[in-house]
Amino acid sequence: MILQIAIPKPVYTHFDYLPPLGTEISCLQPGIRLRVPFGKSQSKIGILLAIAENSTIASHKLKSAEAVLDDVPILPADILQLLQWASRYYHHPIGEVISTALPTLLSQGHSAIIQTILGWKLTTSGQETLQLASLAKTAHRQQAILQLLQEHPNGLSQVTLSNSLSNIVPVLRTLEQKNWITPHLVEPLHLIKAVQSISLPLPLNAAQNQVVNRVCQHLDRFYPCLLDGVTGSGKTEVYLQIIQEVMKNNRQTLVLIPEINLTPQMVNRFQQRFSVPLAIFHSKLTPYERLQAWLLAKEGIAPIVIGTRSAVWTPLARPGLFIVDEEHDPAYKQQDGFRYSARDIAVVRAQRAQVPLLLGSATPSLDSLYNAQQQRYQHLILPERAGTAVHPHFQVVDMRPQPRQSLSWQLVQAISRRLAKQQQVLLFINRRGYAPTLMCYHCGWVAYCQHCDAPLTYHQTHRNLCCHYCGATRLRDTCCPDCHQEQLSLLGQGTERIEEQLQQQFSSARILRIDSDSTRGKNAMHTLLEHIHGGEVDILVGTQMLAKGHHFPKVTLVGIINVDSGLYHADFRAPERMAQLLVQVAGRAGRVHEPGEVIIQTYHPDHPLLNCLIREGYPAFAQAALHERQLAQFPPYTRLALLRAEANQVDLPLQFLQAAKEHALQLTTPEIQLWGPVPAPMARRAGWYRAQLLLQSAQRDVLHLLLSQWLPHFAKLAGRKVRWSLDIDPQELL
Ligand code: ADP
Ligand code: ZN
Ligand code: ZN
Repeated sequence: MILQIAIPKPVYTHFDYLPPLGTEISCLQPGIRLRVPFGKSQSKIGILLAIAENSTIASHKLKSAEAVLDDVPILPADILQLLQWASRYYHHPIGEVISTALPTLLSQGHSAIIQTILGWKLTTSGQETLQLASLAKTAHRQQAILQLLQEHPNGLSQVTLSNSLSNIVPVLRTLEQKNWITPHLVEPLHLIKAVQSISLPLPLNAAQNQVVNRVCQHLDRFYPCLLDGVTGSGKTEVYLQIIQEVMKNNRQTLVLIPEINLTPQMVNRFQQRFSVPLAIFHSKLTPYERLQAWLLAKEGIAPIVIGTRSAVWTPLARPGLFIVDEEHDPAYKQQDGFRYSARDIAVVRAQRAQVPLLLGSATPSLDSLYNAQQQRYQHLILPERAGTAVHPHFQVVDMRPQPRQSLSWQLVQAISRRLAKQQQVLLFINRRGYAPTLMCYHCGWVAYCQHCDAPLTYHQTHRNLCCHYCGATRLRDTCCPDCHQEQLSLLGQGTERIEEQLQQQFSSARILRIDSDSTRGKNAMHTLLEHIHGGEVDILVGTQMLAKGHHFPKVTLVGIINVDSGLYHADFRAPERMAQLLVQVAGRAGRVHEPGEVIIQTYHPDHPLLNCLIREGYPAFAQAALHERQLAQFPPYTRLALLRAEANQVDLPLQFLQAAKEHALQLTTPEIQLWGPVPAPMARRAGWYRAQLLLQSAQRDVLHLLLSQWLPHFAKLAGRKVRWSLDIDPQELL
């Protein structure tokens, strides 16, 4: 009997081992962990994938596994199969795929046991005491505890109890001596809310009602839906009410959101609506808390699981619904290592589990819109904002007559009007720091990063130059190193510079900057958001962080400082991203009181896609952009795979890719086009020279067949000096 085991190594197949000596066969189920000898004197932890009769390895070379670590599979069959499918689809080593999906502690061999903590439960005689009201009138505190425990028949942790009453230990001891309460282990408190008020479901409007009904009529089958609703149209409310139905059937829901720490409001709404255990994955969990949340999901204790990208792999005992909020967000695609798309994995999971899937967005990806047009998804539309808020009004400002101004006079006037009315203003600029370029006007020298083909950004706060690609920093030059001129100019604007200009122009306004520099501290974002909601801020300046899911009810004017980088860009997805960002930022304006106003500054006021977006809205833009994609034969009309390579020497990546291409040409059919190899748009990054080869095909199967025949040859072609990676369905061609 041969055990096929996945080990986290960059190897495409499993490793074969013999069972540990003396193991009962019944213990060896796929999905359990084993400790196995690996290499010289090491041992590793692997996952049993399958049991086979034969091995390609000579029997005298096979080693025995050292130990079985689990009685029951830590990866249930559905997840194990999903991971194996993903390993084939993304052409990524199975061991590494599995370690992406497992909590670190499990990969390290930690036991998979749900931690319980000390709590208390009412005994039968405790219940009788309460019913008979036989407690002395003086024993208020005893009575309070008994009552709380009666409301929670599954017990409450001591920590929760002491949140409600101070100094409870002596009281608990008395109650235990009287045999009215008994110690009882409960699940960890940080994952389970026990005592909290809940918010009631809102009466739905007609469109919301229709969506909820349609999905709830199809809870027992794969029912993929694109929930297409403008910001504020009540998508979250729709999620909540469908989840409620799913919970009635005793099934679990997995909710994916792009960014959890930036959007505490989303999680709050779930917490306020449902007084059930929520397993929430966020980046501030300790490894131990992460493991606990994972186990609560796997064992079916948490009916709702919320998390970012990697939460898509969380096992669910009884899956009932998958939700991907803001499905267009590029954050769902992992951009290094195992480059999977969590949105696409969610689709596959829902299909395999035969349950509904909701892909929600105010600005659906062109991929999903195309799938809806092809009738692969139900296209469910929420056309109007819930409540009373109205759509914002757009104005394009032509910057050509006022070049070198970062704030046009139109924008400045609009800001003054809003400030006079004590309303909030939000300015969006896609760049942090003070200025993206330090330049010598005399000879044209520009401060570049030593390690990357990229100019350095000047940061006023640290008074240094910083590379946004590799993080290198250095002092600002005082004179030009080439011509020794002393006057160097800072070109362009970042958040810091806009903040400074606003301070000069609106000296009495309270200005707040939000970017990854100003929100670095642990609770920084939270604190800043509190300032904003408390009305302590007049003007907000920020990067795309501001576009993500926040509700700023007091903001009535949004200014987009510069939209142009999205209009002309090497990446064919740039206009889509630009439009999504624009609509999302605009969606922050005028949610409650007054119609919002959006001012967009551009040097290309006639750009057709920009105009289409502003005049006719996102759906019309998406149609036009899809049409362009079709003409250019880009996704979703074709499939792409990108082979990237990098090395310390400039020629090596191109040489490897050229050799790989020639190899592919022997295998490939006319249905696959190969483009390149070419240097990457940023040809050097962090000291590595980079190049890429793009594969394109209208037929996914043909492409994947080629890849699986081709890939095994890369190691030899690449040699030791070239690092390569394959990106299936790449989201960025950089
Ligand atoms: P989205 O997720 O589409 O941005 P939300 O669900 O957050 O929309 O709803 C936006 C706002 O409208 C929220 O303040 C929410 O409480 C409110 N809302 C949603 N549905 C309704 C409804 N049916 N009636 C009244 N208010 C609603
Ligand atoms: Zn110079
Ligand atoms: Zn750099």
